Amino acid sequence: MDLFEHQARELFQEHGVLVPRAEVVDSPRAARAAAERLGGRVVVKAQVKTGGRGKAGGVKLAADPAATELTARQLLGMDIKGHTVHRVMVAEPVAVEHEFYVGYVLDRAAGRFMAIVSAEGGMDIEDVAARRPEAVARIAVDPAEGVTEAKAAEIAAAGGLPPETAATIHRLWTVLVAEDALLVEVNPLVLTSDGAIVALDGKVTLDDNARFRQPARGDADDDVARDPLEARAAAAGLNYVKLDGHVGVIGNGAGLVMSTLDVVAGCGARPADFLDIGGGASAQVMADGLSVVLGDPDVRSVLVNVFGGITACDAVADGIVRALDTVTLTKPLVVRLDGNSAARGRAILAELAHPLVHQADTMDGAAARAAELAA
Ligand code: GDP
Ligand code: MN
Repeated sequence: MDLFEHQARELFQEHGVLVPRAEVVDSPRAARAAAERLGGRVVVKAQVKTGGRGKAGGVKLAADPAATELTARQLLGMDIKGHTVHRVMVAEPVAVEHEFYVGYVLDRAAGRFMAIVSAEGGMDIEDVAARRPEAVARIAVDPAEGVTEAKAAEIAAAGGLPPETAATIHRLWTVLVAEDALLVEVNPLVLTSDGAIVALDGKVTLDDNARFRQPARGDADDDVARDPLEARAAAAGLNYVKLDGHVGVIGNGAGLVMSTLDVVAGCGARPADFLDIGGGASAQVMADGLSVVLGDPDVRSVLVNVFGGITACDAVADGIVRALDTVTLTKPLVVRLDGNSAARGRAILAELAHPLVHQADTMDGAAARAAELAA
């Protein structure tokens, strides 16, 4: 998972890396208030998970709180390389004397982390790396040894960075290890006019496989940038993707759901989502799935396509019946049950006799019916 700059900044701060004073806001008014607290003159920075914000016009200096409000109004809602700006960071400006580049990245082929440093950091680092690769130093880091203070000094020297950057280079390694990060990048790391070493930007990628040992991490999720239905589905542990059509699709197993999307498209309708309830289609899972799909205003009909295997169809049918205790069905539901215990499952739904619940014997028939109901 990639972090926003402001989240990376917090991790830096926790591990003793100096960062400018800053606040994150989501409205022009709040930006103005933040500028007032930060002393008037500020840098306003779009918070999007992509680089090159400076060149795209996403980093702007504002002379006073009124200008900050205007700048925030421009940046909020702006698109930077396909990422919508939902929040901006309002930061105290830093008097930059020199910009360095410092990064740690996992080199999978080498089985090592790689420290990458350059004395020519800043917005043109890609250019520098392409034109004069010798200006960018790469130093392998043995994961078992890590970056000691001595190693940090060696890394700084290799990149031609002044010795006073070594302490920060060391702390950034601590960030990587403590937070289970795959990437920690600071560009620029700056030397300020009063001699301090400050991380002016930050990019951190956390290792999702280490989530289990980072319980505090939950709130790092990118829930604003995400579709709200996707966020709700993720919270319920469902595999859901919002699409742009009108037939809600629920199935068990990613392969079956994908082929169901194709069959719906083959019937001339467009799927509204992809929702895989997985192997254990309990009443709770069914209720969660249905409420997510029915919560989508684009959905006009819902197609439940289940091929009973380990999950028996009668359990799925039971799940639907019990889900309807808590979820009010507002749109027609077409259910196709086949495979393990299909006959029992169908009987359960027939007995339910809900006016909005329709059954179909085949996947094609079910898709055609759902498409017709969505038309
Ligand atoms: P990026 O373009 O997405 O990497 O965004 P950065 O956060 O790195 O900002 C782009 C550039 O803006 C930096 O390389 C700096 O040169 C400049 N910048 C950002 N904040 C400040 C600041 O407080 N003072 C000064 N002088 N320059 C800044
Ligand atoms: Mn940067």
